[in-house]
Amino acid sequence: MCIVCRNRLPQNNMLRLQCKNGELLRFNGNGRSFYLCKNCENSKKLDKIIKRICKKNISIENIKEIIIYGN
Ligand SMILES: [Zn+2]
Repeated sequence: MCIVCRNRLPQNNMLRLQCKNGELLRFNGNGRSFYLCKNCENSKKLDKIIKRICKKNISIENIKEIIIYGN
């Protein structure tokens, strides 16, 4: 389920991300993860939701970087 719109979509239409030590990363197979759908990559609510999950101020630019380039 997408963390922003709460829609259920096929996993290949969604990004699987995780927060580790306050950093937003692509999911690497360990720990808790969450999904973000492609429709919500540009959502204005995204940074707020990520902030809540990571308990840290993460800028939209950082989120976009991870979405586009991975890490
Ligand atoms: Zn969504």
